[in-house]
Amino acid sequence: MTLKGKKIAVLGTGEAGRSAARYLHSRGAIITCCDRLEPEDWEKDFRSWCEQNKIQAMGEDHLSETDISGFDLAVASPGIPPGSTMPALFKTHEIDIIGELALAASLWPGRLLGITGTNGKTTTTELTSHILTCSGISNIKAGNISPPLFELLPGSSKAETAVLEISSFQLEYFPQKWPRGLKCPRFSAAVLLNLAPDHLDRHGSMEEYARSKSRLFHFQKDRDVAVLGKGTENIMGNIPGTVFSLDLDRRKKTGAFWDRERSLLKIDLPGRFEEEYDVSKWKPWGRHNMENLAAAVISARISGAEPEMIQKALATFRAPDYRLQKSAELKGITFINDSKATNISALVAALESIEGEITLIAGGRGKGEDFDMLASFLKKRNGSPKGGRLKNAILIGEEAQRLKEVLVPFVKECRLVSGKGGSDAMEQAVKMAASTARPGSTVLLSPACASFDMFKSYKERGRAFDQALSKLK
Ligand code: ADP
Repeated sequence: MTLKGKKIAVLGTGEAGRSAARYLHSRGAIITCCDRLEPEDWEKDFRSWCEQNKIQAMGEDHLSETDISGFDLAVASPGIPPGSTMPALFKTHEIDIIGELALAASLWPGRLLGITGTNGKTTTTELTSHILTCSGISNIKAGNISPPLFELLPGSSKAETAVLEISSFQLEYFPQKWPRGLKCPRFSAAVLLNLAPDHLDRHGSMEEYARSKSRLFHFQKDRDVAVLGKGTENIMGNIPGTVFSLDLDRRKKTGAFWDRERSLLKIDLPGRFEEEYDVSKWKPWGRHNMENLAAAVISARISGAEPEMIQKALATFRAPDYRLQKSAELKGITFINDSKATNISALVAALESIEGEITLIAGGRGKGEDFDMLASFLKKRNGSPKGGRLKNAILIGEEAQRLKEVLVPFVKECRLVSGKGGSDAMEQAVKMAASTARPGSTVLLSPACASFDMFKSYKERGRAFDQALSKLK
Protein backbone atom coordinates (compact mmCIF):
# COMPACT_ATOMS: atom_id res chain seq x y z
CA MET A 1 0.00 0.00 0.00
CA THR A 2 1.42 3.40 -0.80
CA LEU A 3 0.59 5.65 2.07
CA LYS A 4 0.49 8.74 -0.09
CA GLY A 5 -3.01 10.11 -0.37
CA LYS A 6 -4.57 7.45 1.88
CA LYS A 7 -7.09 8.66 4.42
CA ILE A 8 -5.97 7.32 7.76
CA ALA A 9 -7.41 7.84 11.24
CA VAL A 10 -4.88 7.67 14.05
CA LEU A 11 -6.63 6.59 17.24
CA GLY A 12 -4.87 7.65 20.41
CA THR A 13 -2.42 10.50 20.90
CA GLY A 14 -0.04 8.99 23.44
CA GLU A 15 3.60 8.33 22.53
CA ALA A 16 2.69 5.54 20.07
CA GLY A 17 -0.12 7.46 18.34
CA ARG A 18 1.92 10.65 18.03
CA SER A 19 4.78 8.79 16.47
CA ALA A 20 2.46 6.99 14.00
CA ALA A 21 0.82 10.30 13.09
CA ARG A 22 4.12 12.02 12.36
CA TYR A 23 5.40 9.15 10.24
CA LEU A 24 2.21 8.69 8.23
CA HIS A 25 1.94 12.41 7.60
CA SER A 26 5.58 12.52 6.42
CA ARG A 27 4.72 9.81 3.88
CA GLY A 28 1.88 11.79 2.41
CA ALA A 29 -1.08 10.12 4.14
CA ILE A 30 -4.03 12.39 4.93
CA ILE A 31 -4.44 11.80 8.61
CA THR A 32 -7.03 12.60 11.22
CA CYS A 33 -5.97 12.32 14.85
CA CYS A 34 -8.53 11.25 17.43
CA ASP A 35 -8.45 10.63 21.12
CA ARG A 36 -10.81 9.93 23.98
CA LEU A 37 -9.79 13.38 25.22
CA GLU A 38 -10.56 16.63 23.45
CA PRO A 39 -7.59 18.21 21.61
CA GLU A 40 -7.20 20.95 24.24
CA ASP A 41 -6.09 18.21 26.65
CA TRP A 42 -3.52 16.65 24.28
CA GLU A 43 0.21 17.11 24.66
CA LYS A 44 0.89 20.73 23.76
CA ASP A 45 3.63 20.19 21.18
CA PHE A 46 1.58 17.62 19.36
CA ARG A 47 -1.47 19.84 19.28
CA SER A 48 0.61 22.66 17.81
CA TRP A 49 2.06 20.23 15.27
CA CYS A 50 -1.48 19.25 14.21
CA GLU A 51 -2.42 22.93 13.87
CA GLN A 52 0.71 23.85 11.91
CA ASN A 53 0.21 20.96 9.50
CA LYS A 54 -3.55 21.49 9.20
CA ILE A 55 -4.23 18.03 10.51
CA GLN A 56 -7.75 17.32 11.63
CA ALA A 57 -7.81 16.73 15.39
CA MET A 58 -10.85 15.61 17.38
CA GLY A 59 -12.09 13.97 20.56
CA GLU A 60 -14.17 10.80 20.36
CA ASP A 61 -17.48 12.61 20.84
CA HIS A 62 -16.78 14.68 17.76
CA LEU A 63 -15.64 11.56 15.87
CA SER A 64 -18.96 9.86 16.63
CA GLU A 65 -20.73 12.71 14.82
CA THR A 66 -18.38 12.66 11.83
CA ASP A 67 -18.90 10.79 8.58
CA ILE A 68 -16.03 8.28 8.64
CA SER A 69 -17.05 6.20 5.64
CA GLY A 70 -14.27 7.66 3.47
CA PHE A 71 -11.38 6.40 5.63
CA ASP A 72 -9.04 3.75 4.20
CA LEU A 73 -7.59 2.63 7.51
CA ALA A 74 -7.62 3.27 11.27
CA VAL A 75 -4.40 2.90 13.25
CA ALA A 76 -4.97 2.12 16.93
CA SER A 77 -2.76 2.69 19.96
CA PRO A 78 -2.43 -0.28 22.31
CA GLY A 79 -4.05 1.51 25.27
CA ILE A 80 -7.43 1.66 23.49
CA PRO A 81 -9.57 -1.42 24.21
CA PRO A 82 -10.80 -2.88 20.88
CA GLY A 83 -14.42 -2.82 22.04
CA SER A 84 -14.37 0.86 22.99
CA THR A 85 -16.06 3.74 21.16
CA MET A 86 -13.45 4.67 18.54
CA PRO A 87 -12.53 1.20 17.22
CA ALA A 88 -16.21 0.18 17.38
CA LEU A 89 -17.13 3.05 15.05
CA PHE A 90 -14.62 1.94 12.41
CA LYS A 91 -15.68 -1.68 12.78
CA THR A 92 -19.29 -0.75 12.11
CA HIS A 93 -18.21 0.88 8.88
CA GLU A 94 -16.08 -2.16 7.99
CA ILE A 95 -12.94 -0.05 7.83
CA ASP A 96 -9.71 -1.95 8.51
CA ILE A 97 -8.19 -1.33 11.94
CA ILE A 98 -4.54 -2.11 12.59
CA GLY A 99 -2.30 -1.45 15.58
CA GLU A 100 0.48 1.12 15.41
CA LEU A 101 3.11 -1.57 16.06
CA ALA A 102 1.50 -3.99 13.61
CA LEU A 103 1.55 -1.33 10.88
CA ALA A 104 5.11 -0.24 11.62
CA ALA A 105 6.23 -3.91 11.61
CA SER A 106 4.63 -4.44 8.23
CA LEU A 107 6.61 -1.46 6.90
CA TRP A 108 9.94 -2.65 8.41
CA PRO A 109 12.20 -3.78 5.54
CA GLY A 110 14.61 -5.95 7.56
CA ARG A 111 14.46 -8.99 9.77
CA LEU A 112 11.87 -9.07 12.55
CA LEU A 113 12.20 -10.78 15.91
CA GLY A 114 9.10 -10.65 18.11
CA ILE A 115 9.13 -11.22 21.85
CA THR A 116 6.03 -11.61 23.98
CA GLY A 117 4.92 -13.38 27.16
CA THR A 118 3.39 -12.47 30.48
CA ASN A 119 6.80 -11.87 32.04
CA GLY A 120 10.35 -11.48 30.81
CA LYS A 121 9.66 -9.48 27.63
CA THR A 122 11.87 -6.52 28.44
CA THR A 123 14.70 -8.63 29.84
CA THR A 124 14.68 -10.89 26.78
CA THR A 125 14.41 -8.02 24.31
CA GLU A 126 17.34 -6.21 25.96
CA LEU A 127 19.36 -9.41 26.04
CA THR A 128 18.69 -10.34 22.42
CA SER A 129 19.69 -6.87 21.31
CA HIS A 130 22.79 -7.02 23.53
CA ILE A 131 23.88 -10.32 21.97
CA LEU A 132 23.30 -9.00 18.44
CA THR A 133 25.25 -5.83 19.18
CA CYS A 134 28.15 -7.81 20.70
CA SER A 135 28.07 -9.95 17.55
CA GLY A 136 28.37 -6.90 15.29
CA ILE A 137 24.82 -7.29 13.93
CA SER A 138 23.13 -3.93 13.59
CA ASN A 139 19.78 -3.90 15.31
CA ILE A 140 17.18 -1.76 17.01
CA LYS A 141 14.86 -2.56 19.90
CA ALA A 142 11.41 -1.06 19.93
CA GLY A 143 7.72 -1.66 20.52
CA ASN A 144 6.43 -2.07 24.04
CA ILE A 145 9.95 -1.20 25.12
CA SER A 146 10.25 2.43 24.06
CA PRO A 147 10.57 3.92 21.46
CA PRO A 148 7.65 3.06 19.20
CA LEU A 149 8.88 1.33 16.02
CA PHE A 150 7.59 4.21 13.88
CA GLU A 151 10.39 6.34 15.34
CA LEU A 152 12.98 4.01 13.86
CA LEU A 153 11.60 3.17 10.46
CA PRO A 154 14.15 3.71 7.69
CA GLY A 155 14.86 7.23 6.95
CA SER A 156 15.92 7.61 10.55
CA SER A 157 17.58 4.20 11.07
CA LYS A 158 19.55 1.79 8.90
CA ALA A 159 19.42 -1.16 11.30
CA GLU A 160 18.78 -4.51 9.71
CA THR A 161 17.17 -6.45 12.55
CA ALA A 162 14.30 -5.15 14.64
CA VAL A 163 13.94 -6.78 18.06
CA LEU A 164 10.37 -6.03 19.08
CA GLU A 165 8.94 -6.34 22.54
CA ILE A 166 5.24 -6.90 21.94
CA SER A 167 2.50 -6.74 24.56
CA SER A 168 -0.83 -8.52 24.39
CA PHE A 169 -2.50 -5.12 23.91
CA GLN A 170 -0.39 -4.60 20.80
CA LEU A 171 -1.05 -8.13 19.57
CA GLU A 172 -4.81 -7.60 19.86
CA TYR A 173 -4.39 -5.14 17.01
CA PHE A 174 -2.52 -7.56 14.73
CA PRO A 175 -5.51 -8.20 12.45
CA GLN A 176 -6.57 -11.78 11.61
CA LYS A 177 -7.05 -10.66 8.05
CA TRP A 178 -4.27 -8.29 7.11
CA PRO A 179 -5.43 -5.08 5.34
CA ARG A 180 -5.13 -5.35 1.55
CA GLY A 181 -1.98 -3.92 0.08
CA LEU A 182 0.04 -4.14 3.29
CA LYS A 183 2.80 -6.71 3.75
CA CYS A 184 2.19 -9.22 6.57
CA PRO A 185 4.96 -8.96 9.16
CA ARG A 186 6.80 -12.26 9.31
CA PHE A 187 8.84 -12.96 12.42
CA SER A 188 11.99 -15.03 11.83
CA ALA A 189 11.81 -15.82 15.52
CA ALA A 190 8.61 -15.32 17.47
CA VAL A 191 8.95 -15.88 21.20
CA LEU A 192 6.19 -16.57 23.71
CA LEU A 193 8.08 -16.84 26.99
CA ASN A 194 5.18 -17.86 29.22
CA LEU A 195 1.51 -17.33 29.79
CA ALA A 196 -0.07 -16.70 33.20
CA PRO A 197 -3.08 -14.68 34.33
CA ASP A 198 -2.49 -10.96 33.78
CA HIS A 199 -4.43 -8.01 32.33
CA LEU A 200 -7.65 -9.99 32.63
CA ASP A 201 -9.44 -6.74 33.37
CA ARG A 202 -8.82 -5.88 29.71
CA HIS A 203 -8.94 -9.29 28.00
CA GLY A 204 -11.87 -10.68 29.95
CA SER A 205 -10.62 -14.28 30.05
CA MET A 206 -7.46 -16.36 29.76
CA GLU A 207 -8.73 -17.67 26.40
CA GLU A 208 -8.91 -14.17 24.96
CA TYR A 209 -5.53 -13.29 26.45
CA ALA A 210 -3.98 -16.41 24.89
CA ARG A 211 -5.70 -15.69 21.57
CA SER A 212 -4.08 -12.27 21.42
CA LYS A 213 -0.64 -13.78 22.11
CA SER A 214 -1.10 -16.39 19.36
CA ARG A 215 -1.29 -13.67 16.71
CA LEU A 216 2.47 -13.35 16.77
CA PHE A 217 2.80 -16.67 14.97
CA HIS A 218 0.19 -16.24 12.23
CA PHE A 219 2.43 -15.24 9.38
CA GLN A 220 5.43 -17.44 10.12
CA LYS A 221 6.63 -19.95 7.55
CA ASP A 222 8.08 -23.37 8.31
CA ARG A 223 11.69 -22.15 8.38
CA ASP A 224 10.82 -19.50 10.93
CA VAL A 225 11.08 -20.48 14.55
CA ALA A 226 8.34 -20.27 17.18
CA VAL A 227 9.97 -20.27 20.61
CA LEU A 228 7.46 -21.50 23.16
CA GLY A 229 7.66 -21.35 26.95
CA LYS A 230 6.85 -24.31 29.12
CA GLY A 231 3.15 -25.14 29.08
CA THR A 232 2.24 -22.83 26.21
CA GLU A 233 2.54 -25.35 23.36
CA ASN A 234 -0.90 -26.89 23.85
CA ILE A 235 -2.56 -23.54 24.29
CA MET A 236 -1.11 -22.11 21.07
CA GLY A 237 -2.42 -24.95 18.88
CA ASN A 238 -1.32 -25.08 15.25
CA ILE A 239 1.76 -23.06 14.55
CA PRO A 240 3.20 -22.83 11.05
CA GLY A 241 6.84 -22.33 12.12
CA THR A 242 9.26 -24.83 13.69
CA VAL A 243 8.49 -25.08 17.40
CA PHE A 244 11.48 -24.64 19.71
CA SER A 245 10.69 -25.55 23.33
CA LEU A 246 11.87 -23.49 26.30
CA ASP A 247 11.08 -26.30 28.75
CA LEU A 248 14.56 -26.46 30.28
CA ASP A 249 13.98 -29.58 32.35
CA ARG A 250 13.46 -32.02 29.51
CA ARG A 251 15.88 -32.76 26.71
CA LYS A 252 13.91 -32.67 23.45
CA LYS A 253 14.82 -32.89 19.79
CA THR A 254 14.14 -29.19 19.25
CA GLY A 255 14.60 -26.90 22.18
CA ALA A 256 16.72 -25.75 25.07
CA PHE A 257 17.95 -27.85 27.97
CA TRP A 258 19.65 -26.65 31.15
CA ASP A 259 22.24 -29.05 32.51
CA ARG A 260 22.52 -27.54 35.98
CA GLU A 261 25.27 -29.84 37.20
CA ARG A 262 27.61 -28.91 34.39
CA SER A 263 26.37 -25.31 34.07
CA LEU A 264 25.55 -25.78 30.43
CA LEU A 265 22.72 -24.53 28.28
CA LYS A 266 22.09 -26.78 25.29
CA ILE A 267 20.42 -25.46 22.18
CA ASP A 268 19.11 -27.97 19.64
CA LEU A 269 17.52 -27.06 16.34
CA PRO A 270 18.18 -30.19 14.27
CA GLY A 271 20.02 -29.60 11.02
CA ARG A 272 20.85 -26.03 12.01
CA PHE A 273 22.31 -25.65 15.48
CA GLU A 274 23.35 -28.20 18.06
CA GLU A 275 25.53 -26.50 20.62
CA GLU A 276 26.27 -25.86 24.27
CA TYR A 277 26.92 -22.66 26.17
CA ASP A 278 28.82 -22.38 29.43
CA VAL A 279 26.47 -20.48 31.74
CA SER A 280 28.72 -20.35 34.80
CA LYS A 281 29.27 -16.61 34.21
CA TRP A 282 25.59 -15.81 33.59
CA LYS A 283 24.54 -13.47 36.41
CA PRO A 284 20.72 -12.99 36.42
CA TRP A 285 19.11 -15.37 38.92
CA GLY A 286 16.65 -18.10 38.54
CA ARG A 287 15.22 -20.57 36.12
CA HIS A 288 13.07 -17.89 34.53
CA ASN A 289 16.15 -15.91 33.52
CA MET A 290 17.68 -19.06 32.04
CA GLU A 291 14.52 -19.36 29.91
CA ASN A 292 14.97 -15.73 28.88
CA LEU A 293 18.57 -16.50 27.97
CA ALA A 294 17.62 -19.55 25.92
CA ALA A 295 15.01 -17.52 24.01
CA ALA A 296 17.52 -14.74 23.32
CA VAL A 297 20.24 -17.17 22.21
CA ILE A 298 18.04 -18.96 19.68
CA SER A 299 16.66 -15.64 18.36
CA ALA A 300 20.16 -14.21 17.98
CA ARG A 301 21.44 -17.41 16.39
CA ILE A 302 18.67 -17.29 13.77
CA SER A 303 19.73 -13.71 13.08
CA GLY A 304 23.31 -14.75 12.32
CA ALA A 305 25.09 -14.42 15.70
CA GLU A 306 27.91 -16.93 16.16
CA PRO A 307 28.31 -19.08 19.31
CA GLU A 308 31.67 -17.56 20.39
CA MET A 309 30.19 -14.06 20.41
CA ILE A 310 27.06 -15.24 22.22
CA GLN A 311 29.24 -16.92 24.82
CA LYS A 312 31.08 -13.64 25.43
CA ALA A 313 27.89 -11.55 25.42
CA LEU A 314 26.12 -13.55 28.08
CA ALA A 315 28.86 -12.80 30.59
CA THR A 316 28.47 -9.04 30.16
CA PHE A 317 24.69 -8.72 30.32
CA ARG A 318 23.18 -6.76 33.17
CA ALA A 319 19.43 -7.24 33.68
CA PRO A 320 17.34 -4.05 33.49
CA ASP A 321 16.62 -2.23 36.76
CA TYR A 322 13.99 -3.32 39.28
CA ARG A 323 13.95 -6.95 38.14
CA LEU A 324 15.30 -9.02 41.02
CA GLN A 325 17.95 -6.40 41.58
CA LYS A 326 20.09 -6.51 44.68
CA SER A 327 19.72 -3.05 46.24
CA ALA A 328 21.62 -3.34 49.52
CA GLU A 329 23.01 -5.53 52.22
CA LEU A 330 22.42 -4.18 55.74
CA LYS A 331 23.25 -5.98 58.96
CA GLY A 332 23.50 -9.25 57.10
CA ILE A 333 20.10 -8.85 55.41
CA THR A 334 19.97 -8.75 51.62
CA PHE A 335 17.40 -6.35 50.11
CA ILE A 336 16.10 -7.18 46.66
CA ASN A 337 14.16 -4.81 44.47
CA ASP A 338 11.75 -6.58 42.11
CA SER A 339 9.32 -3.67 41.72
CA LYS A 340 8.66 -4.74 38.10
CA ALA A 341 6.91 -7.89 39.39
CA THR A 342 3.37 -6.73 38.66
CA ASN A 343 1.64 -10.11 38.64
CA ILE A 344 1.57 -13.30 40.68
CA SER A 345 3.66 -15.30 38.28
CA ALA A 346 6.55 -12.81 38.49
CA LEU A 347 6.34 -13.03 42.29
CA VAL A 348 6.41 -16.82 42.09
CA ALA A 349 9.49 -16.63 39.82
CA ALA A 350 11.17 -14.46 42.46
CA LEU A 351 10.25 -16.78 45.33
CA GLU A 352 11.62 -19.71 43.33
CA SER A 353 14.89 -17.92 42.63
CA ILE A 354 15.85 -16.92 46.17
CA GLU A 355 17.33 -19.40 48.59
CA GLY A 356 16.79 -19.09 52.34
CA GLU A 357 14.29 -17.13 54.39
CA ILE A 358 12.30 -14.35 52.78
CA THR A 359 10.41 -11.36 54.17
CA LEU A 360 8.16 -10.21 51.36
CA ILE A 361 6.83 -6.71 50.68
CA ALA A 362 3.91 -6.99 48.27
CA GLY A 363 0.63 -5.36 47.24
CA GLY A 364 -0.66 -2.51 45.10
CA ARG A 365 -3.44 -2.42 42.52
CA GLY A 366 -4.82 -5.73 41.21
CA LYS A 367 -5.37 -6.42 37.51
CA GLY A 368 -8.27 -8.82 37.72
CA GLU A 369 -6.20 -11.88 38.70
CA ASP A 370 -7.23 -14.11 41.53
CA PHE A 371 -4.43 -15.22 43.82
CA ASP A 372 -5.08 -18.99 43.62
CA MET A 373 -1.82 -19.56 41.80
CA LEU A 374 0.10 -18.07 44.74
CA ALA A 375 -1.76 -20.23 47.23
CA SER A 376 -1.10 -23.41 45.28
CA PHE A 377 2.56 -22.52 44.83
CA LEU A 378 2.94 -21.93 48.56
CA LYS A 379 1.10 -25.14 49.40
CA LYS A 380 3.52 -27.09 47.23
CA ARG A 381 6.76 -25.25 47.75
CA ASN A 382 6.91 -23.06 50.82
CA GLY A 383 9.24 -24.63 53.30
CA SER A 384 11.23 -26.55 50.72
CA PRO A 385 14.72 -25.13 50.35
CA LYS A 386 14.24 -24.78 46.60
CA GLY A 387 11.02 -22.85 46.84
CA GLY A 388 12.55 -20.25 49.10
CA ARG A 389 11.10 -20.04 52.59
CA LEU A 390 8.62 -17.23 52.78
CA LYS A 391 8.53 -16.37 56.48
CA ASN A 392 6.94 -12.92 56.78
CA ALA A 393 4.81 -10.67 54.61
CA ILE A 394 4.31 -6.94 54.76
CA LEU A 395 1.46 -5.78 52.59
CA ILE A 396 0.73 -2.41 51.05
CA GLY A 397 -1.87 -0.84 48.76
CA GLU A 398 -5.35 -1.77 47.59
CA GLU A 399 -4.77 -5.52 47.44
CA ALA A 400 -3.19 -5.78 50.91
CA GLN A 401 -6.20 -7.37 52.56
CA ARG A 402 -6.85 -9.90 49.78
CA LEU A 403 -3.18 -10.90 49.74
CA LYS A 404 -3.25 -11.25 53.50
CA GLU A 405 -6.07 -13.79 53.26
CA VAL A 406 -3.97 -15.90 50.89
CA LEU A 407 -0.72 -15.60 52.81
CA VAL A 408 -1.78 -15.98 56.43
CA PRO A 409 -1.86 -19.82 56.41
CA PHE A 410 1.69 -19.99 55.10
CA VAL A 411 3.70 -17.33 56.92
CA LYS A 412 4.77 -16.68 60.47
CA GLU A 413 3.83 -13.03 60.43
CA CYS A 414 1.66 -10.96 58.10
CA ARG A 415 1.29 -7.19 58.60
CA LEU A 416 -0.56 -4.44 56.77
CA VAL A 417 0.88 -0.98 56.24
CA SER A 418 -1.39 2.03 56.16
CA GLY A 419 0.94 4.80 55.03
CA LYS A 420 -0.43 8.12 53.81
CA GLY A 421 1.20 8.18 50.39
CA GLY A 422 3.29 5.80 48.32
CA SER A 423 6.73 6.68 49.59
CA ASP A 424 5.52 7.00 53.17
CA ALA A 425 3.96 3.51 53.04
CA MET A 426 7.09 2.10 51.42
CA GLU A 427 9.26 3.63 54.12
CA GLN A 428 7.15 2.04 56.83
CA ALA A 429 7.12 -1.30 55.01
CA VAL A 430 10.91 -1.31 54.64
CA LYS A 431 11.37 -0.42 58.32
CA MET A 432 9.03 -3.21 59.40
CA ALA A 433 10.76 -5.67 57.08
CA ALA A 434 14.20 -4.72 58.35
CA SER A 435 13.15 -5.20 61.95
CA THR A 436 11.46 -8.53 61.22
CA ALA A 437 14.03 -10.19 58.95
CA ARG A 438 16.91 -12.14 60.47
CA PRO A 439 20.55 -11.75 59.46
CA GLY A 440 21.34 -14.08 56.58
CA SER A 441 17.83 -13.73 55.14
CA THR A 442 16.35 -11.67 52.31
CA VAL A 443 13.86 -8.81 52.17
CA LEU A 444 12.15 -8.97 48.80
CA LEU A 445 10.01 -6.25 47.25
CA SER A 446 8.00 -8.19 44.65
CA PRO A 447 4.55 -6.60 44.71
CA ALA A 448 2.62 -8.96 42.36
CA CYS A 449 0.42 -5.93 41.61
CA ALA A 450 0.45 -2.78 39.52
CA SER A 451 1.73 0.35 41.25
CA PHE A 452 -0.85 2.92 40.15
CA ASP A 453 -2.77 3.12 43.43
CA MET A 454 0.29 4.60 45.16
CA PHE A 455 2.90 5.46 42.55
CA LYS A 456 3.13 6.78 39.00
CA SER A 457 4.89 3.63 37.81
CA TYR A 458 6.81 0.56 38.90
CA LYS A 459 9.97 2.66 38.50
CA GLU A 460 8.78 5.22 41.03
CA ARG A 461 7.86 2.36 43.37
CA GLY A 462 11.33 0.84 42.90
CA ARG A 463 12.95 4.19 43.62
CA ALA A 464 10.84 4.59 46.77
CA PHE A 465 12.12 1.22 47.99
CA ASP A 466 15.74 2.23 47.35
CA GLN A 467 15.21 5.62 49.03
CA ALA A 468 13.65 3.97 52.07
CA LEU A 469 16.73 1.75 52.23
CA SER A 470 19.11 4.67 52.12
CA LYS A 471 17.24 6.28 55.02
CA LEU A 472 17.60 3.04 56.92
CA LYS A 473 21.36 3.09 56.37
P1 ADP B 1 7.93 -7.77 31.06
O1 ADP B 1 8.58 -6.83 30.13
O2 ADP B 1 7.25 -8.91 30.37
O3 ADP B 1 7.10 -7.14 32.12
P2 ADP B 1 10.42 -7.96 32.58
O4 ADP B 1 11.62 -8.50 31.93
O5 ADP B 1 10.28 -6.49 32.73
O6 ADP B 1 9.14 -8.54 31.84
O7 ADP B 1 10.26 -8.65 34.02
C1 ADP B 1 9.06 -8.42 34.77
C2 ADP B 1 9.03 -9.26 36.02
O8 ADP B 1 8.97 -10.64 35.69
C3 ADP B 1 10.26 -9.12 36.92
O9 ADP B 1 9.80 -9.25 38.23
C4 ADP B 1 11.13 -10.31 36.53
O10 ADP B 1 11.97 -10.72 37.59
C5 ADP B 1 10.09 -11.37 36.19
N1 ADP B 1 10.48 -12.24 35.08
C6 ADP B 1 11.40 -11.99 34.11
N2 ADP B 1 11.47 -13.02 33.25
C7 ADP B 1 10.54 -13.93 33.65
C8 ADP B 1 10.12 -15.20 33.16
N3 ADP B 1 10.66 -15.74 32.08
N4 ADP B 1 9.15 -15.86 33.87
C9 ADP B 1 8.60 -15.33 34.99
N5 ADP B 1 8.96 -14.13 35.49
C10 ADP B 1 9.91 -13.43 34.84
